[in-house]
Amino acid sequence: MKTAFFNTKSYDRQSFNTANKQHQHEIIFFECHLSHETVSLAAGYSAVCIFINDYLDTEMLEKLAQGGTKLIALRSAGFNHVDLAAASHLGLAIVRVPAYSPYAVAEHAVALILSLNRKVHRAYNRVREGNFSIEGLLGFDLHGATVGVIGTGRIGAIFAQIMRGFGCKLIGYDAYQNSACLEMGMTYVQISELFAQSDIISLHCPLTPDSHHLVNAEAIAQMKTGTMLINTSRGGLIDTQAAIDGLKSGAIGYLGIDVYEQEADLFFEDLSNEVIQDDTFQRLLTFPNVIVTGHQAFFTSHALANIAETTLANITEFEQSGSCLNEVKIEQAIASK
Ligand code: NAD
Repeated sequence: MKTAFFNTKSYDRQSFNTANKQHQHEIIFFECHLSHETVSLAAGYSAVCIFINDYLDTEMLEKLAQGGTKLIALRSAGFNHVDLAAASHLGLAIVRVPAYSPYAVAEHAVALILSLNRKVHRAYNRVREGNFSIEGLLGFDLHGATVGVIGTGRIGAIFAQIMRGFGCKLIGYDAYQNSACLEMGMTYVQISELFAQSDIISLHCPLTPDSHHLVNAEAIAQMKTGTMLINTSRGGLIDTQAAIDGLKSGAIGYLGIDVYEQEADLFFEDLSNEVIQDDTFQRLLTFPNVIVTGHQAFFTSHALANIAETTLANITEFEQSGSCLNEVKIEQAIASK
């Protein structure tokens, strides 16, 4: 299928070119985002392929449909960046990659925990400067710590399994109890209990209108002093200003985030020669007990290969049958809200 890829980096082009040897779609890679300014580039392409920070509103979807696009292939699991109602109205199909490597994201959450706890980020700099003092690098044993998992789906369950391996006590919050989590000894609790009992809280639920600012000032007030908060899910789950206040008061003892509310203006680009205008983000970076990574939790070679293979298989399936198992239906989106 003639497909235009937007917002591509070298690693996308490499993984898709490799996977396309089998699928043989006619593809073109654009580095630019799909936006109001660039949507005309998609004219004549039956399919467009986009990433999480390409936002498709009604006007752009109309232009795509007018240009002959039939299919929008998301290189992501999440679909909150596309107006599904408008796409459905215009007869545009949306397909996605429901799971590519839950291990990648779960393992990155654990990397943030270990780094924050044992202050690896600070130790790395100290030793390179010849400073071998261990003052200020005191950590705690993960063994015996209570870990609260919010969202116990694919990623949350794998994260829980890893933390179980450290000898942590597991508590979870989710409308659906995952049998794998129950088997590994997780106790499901109300969210207020999870906030109150956890030494470490890790977020693994999707961003929906219900979960927006799930961690706000009220939630932080219920936490133990010095709680570690980890977010590898979506930035909007945390009220960033409330987290900053929590860090200043000591309520939050450690913050590890791979996602940020306003990340669309920052992440995935090299801004090292620019003055960052987002003062809230810059304030976060001043804390010694905060680690921010730029939405890289998914970024393993396994995940990239899976994303490329599933995306191209989705396009092939749609081309051959006019439908796809990984199609996002409007009813599904409403159900997840
Ligand atoms: P999943 O659908 O398997 O699991 C999500 C779980 O969250 C489900 O069990 C669901 O019942 C639960 N849930 C929904 N709303 C909730 C709420 N308000 N409170 C508590 N639980 C709730 O999804 P997954 O594959 O485990 O992915 C989880 C999230 O990870 C995704 O939504 C995405 O935002 C994020 N993610 C991040 C990256 C990254 O690179 N940082 C990559 C992939 C996915």
